[in-house]
Amino acid sequence: MSVQEALHPQDLNAAFAADAAARLKGKKAEDIIAFAQGAWGDKFAIVSSFGAESAVLLHLVAQIDRNIPVIFLETDRHFAQTLAYRDELIERLGLTNVVNQRPDAEEAAAEDPKGDLWRKDSDACCALRKVRPLDRVLSGYEAWATGRKRFQGGLRANLAIIEFDGVHFKVNPLAEWTPEDIAAYTALHDLPAHPLVEQGFPSIGCWPCTKPAESNDRSGRWAGTDKTECGIHTGGGRRTETLES
Ligand code: SF4
Repeated sequence: MSVQEALHPQDLNAAFAADAAARLKGKKAEDIIAFAQGAWGDKFAIVSSFGAESAVLLHLVAQIDRNIPVIFLETDRHFAQTLAYRDELIERLGLTNVVNQRPDAEEAAAEDPKGDLWRKDSDACCALRKVRPLDRVLSGYEAWATGRKRFQGGLRANLAIIEFDGVHFKVNPLAEWTPEDIAAYTALHDLPAHPLVEQGFPSIGCWPCTKPAESNDRSGRWAGTDKTECGIHTGGGRRTETLES
């Protein structure tokens, strides 16, 4: 029996991700996106929060293919400024395939009838409004790209360029970027800023769970709690390979 025959398909996928991550180390973000599009074709999507630094990844994607699906988790708890910024970027970048993925209406009515689940159980609220909606829409894809960076720290500090979470490949074209890289790219391409950035929000999610922060990090997200991630990168019992590339 060969080594490959002895490996479980999940292990083969993890090995593919690790090998791709190693080969893509130091490559330009556009090359990483192009690799993913070549590897997974129409089974590859972008997931964007249209938050503070989202314009960079979306601009990179638009230079390659404006019709790559861009999934936006419409939680019904976004700042009005985020929705306006989403529409501005769609127009500005010419994105033609933005998918607004909402929570299931019946689940929302049953699990959050008063609309205040975020106050009582933020993990359950994120599961209802982010994790399960994303799982549903991603059932049609093999790989998705995120805008996460290692400098954001926490669980992201050792982020690989390509991961396999047991179900999907996750592509992180900006993993190696620094805050200076983000600022330089934004200035070079004259990309519009999220309107809340100048009001002291370096990271922007749903309005109930986002506060201004002094440092350029995610400390304003679920501030005052132990929670640092909504669960779309850590939940569902899926295994995520965070192999250093
Ligand atoms: S970030 Fe807050 S409001 Fe948004 S889904 Fe999670 S708990 Fe709910």
